[in-house]
Amino acid sequence: IVKLDQIYKSFGANQVLKGVSFEVGKGEMIAIIGASGSGKSTALRCIDRLETIDSGSIEVCDIRVDDPQVDLHRLRQEVGIVFQSYNLFPHLTVQENIMLALRHVKRQPRAEALRVSLAALEQVGLGDKAAAYPEQLSGGQQQRVAIARSLAMAPKVMLFDEVTSALDPQLTGEVLRVMEDLAAGGMTMLLVTHEMAFAKRVADRIIYMHQGKVWEVGPGEMLDAPQTAELRAFLNNGL
Ligand code: ATP
Ligand code: MG
Repeated sequence: IVKLDQIYKSFGANQVLKGVSFEVGKGEMIAIIGASGSGKSTALRCIDRLETIDSGSIEVCDIRVDDPQVDLHRLRQEVGIVFQSYNLFPHLTVQENIMLALRHVKRQPRAEALRVSLAALEQVGLGDKAAAYPEQLSGGQQQRVAIARSLAMAPKVMLFDEVTSALDPQLTGEVLRVMEDLAAGGMTMLLVTHEMAFAKRVADRIIYMHQGKVWEVGPGEMLDAPQTAELRAFLNNGL
């Protein structure tokens, strides 16, 4: 459902992606790990065309993302992306935040947007917070609202870029649980994470990126027996 083939991407003289290829099957949950600067976020952003690639090809569902004529509106309906920062509007309630895109992008009537946004909130365990304002919620709850906002759009694929990095361990747990539920529910997911134990337990496959390349790919157990010195060092030293 997602296919990257020999992606190259430079920022000026800095070649950040050097022939990245991988696929994500329908219903799969894939975790990307790797040191800071290895190109994880850039790879994710290319999939949603927040960055354009220099060469190679990217397909999402049946959309050619690297086609200059790509229908961005359609692409962004199929792909949901959640970042470390939640970017909720402070002057809108939680439910209004979620309804915004439903009303203006999906053009849903108000009654339908109300229903869909509440269902999404319930899915992340925040059905009782619909009328709250973002500042009244914990960081973990705000991040779950951001996930609900993405979910409400009914994407076919969800991308998560270090969504728990800004949270303390307790709040991290509640966000990881939501992602685990989503994976169990069959959502196709690609996530960049530093949560190794979570990746190992929940991901169907792990992609280790190093210096702009896919260095190792395998099931969770690959973290117990790294094949390369680079992955071994990364696992021992963290970032
Ligand atoms: P981290 O774990 O710190 O988030 P990462 O693996 O996500 O790292 P990227 O954010 O993909 O790494 O960045 C890879 C390289 O690309 C870095 O050298 C970074 O400075 C560079 N880079 C990323 N975005 C841009 C940009 N918009 N303009 C210029 N350089 C960029
Ligand atoms: Mg990053």
